[in-house]
Amino acid sequence: MVIAGEGSLYLGLPSTLSRNKSAVLGYLKERVRKKVEGWEMKFLSRAGKEVLIKTVAQSLPSYAMSVFLLPLDITRDMEKTMNKFWWQGSNKAKNGIHWFSWDRLCMHKSKGGMGFRSLRDFNLSMLGKQGWRLMTRPNSLVAKVFKARYFPNGTFFSAELGNNPSFVWRSLLEAQDLVRKGTRWCVGSGEDINVLHEPWLPCEEQPFIESTHPGLLGSKVCNLMEVGGGSWDKEILDDLFEERDKKLILDIPLHSTQGRDKLHWIHETSGFYSVKSAYKLLQKVQGRWQQLEDEQTKFWTKFWRLKIPPKVKNLVWRAGRECLPTLKQLRLRRVDVQALCPICRVAEESIEHALLLCTQPKLVWDRRHRDRNRSHRSRSNFEPVHPCICYHDAATKEAATASLSMGDMERSK
Ligand SMILES: [Zn+2]
Repeated sequence: MVIAGEGSLYLGLPSTLSRNKSAVLGYLKERVRKKVEGWEMKFLSRAGKEVLIKTVAQSLPSYAMSVFLLPLDITRDMEKTMNKFWWQGSNKAKNGIHWFSWDRLCMHKSKGGMGFRSLRDFNLSMLGKQGWRLMTRPNSLVAKVFKARYFPNGTFFSAELGNNPSFVWRSLLEAQDLVRKGTRWCVGSGEDINVLHEPWLPCEEQPFIESTHPGLLGSKVCNLMEVGGGSWDKEILDDLFEERDKKLILDIPLHSTQGRDKLHWIHETSGFYSVKSAYKLLQKVQGRWQQLEDEQTKFWTKFWRLKIPPKVKNLVWRAGRECLPTLKQLRLRRVDVQALCPICRVAEESIEHALLLCTQPKLVWDRRHRDRNRSHRSRSNFEPVHPCICYHDAATKEAATASLSMGDMERSK
């Protein structure tokens, strides 16, 4: 038998982890960096970069993330590499202006972000899946090993770190809170559910028992039912529970023919845990994503659905989020330039001026308008003059105008 040494891999992951996790898992950030460096030489539009970041760079560490919670310095380093790649210009100059932080780029597209992933949250969502499996597949070998080692008398929900824990267990336990938040028990026979520390009450905010009666320690939900399991034992409930818990318990319907207790992931209609819904839940918990239907959300949702080429969308998005390097924007960023528009020399070169109001773009918009009125097949005889307008019709102009007013709205907040 070969003994695993430092740096040896098993199934593509390090099989021994010393105290310095960042050193052992550092190969992940190197991998992302090398990948991104390979792209830097290519002439890519922002839309192309978006696809590469989302489909390749962000997925590179996924496999390791499903087992380990990567140290923060590694995830930050990877995010930094991607952020730099996203903002740098298409020419050889490597340092483009970083108009936004990665956190803001990670906001949902309907909230004005680019919908990139926060790697830490994604990591936790991946680990949550393992936690979910420990709960739903208690007969698997890995679940038996973890149970014997870390929670012999409880479940994953009530488990604690314990003595001398492994790095994998430490990682899984970080996702415990997430799994507890999104999971509910569907009460059947009640034999598998502990009364305390398990989410089984029909309440979205607080599905755990709040009563602290000592008689509840170690008892199962089936102990609260009448013999036969067809109804709740009201006397027991009166004795052991506070009013709130009692009321919620009585709201749970029971049938004498109920099957086993089942775990249900409340953020998926199928009831099964998914990384995507868990990630969304984390974003909501941290206030980065809400289901609010405000003006801004409506606008961005509609905007991203427009049928215009991705690179045009990207340009308009940058206009709306005020990260186009017009002279006025550059001055705001303390770059030493004159803000006067070099084409018309009449007004400051703001984003709105450069895309809509200046003499040249205005000509293009007007001509486009005329062409459209004359013929619906105007696309063929249209001269590509401005990158924003070369393909498009009213949709682009509308989007550009609206996104600029969105920018105004945001500024005035
Ligand atoms: Zn001008």
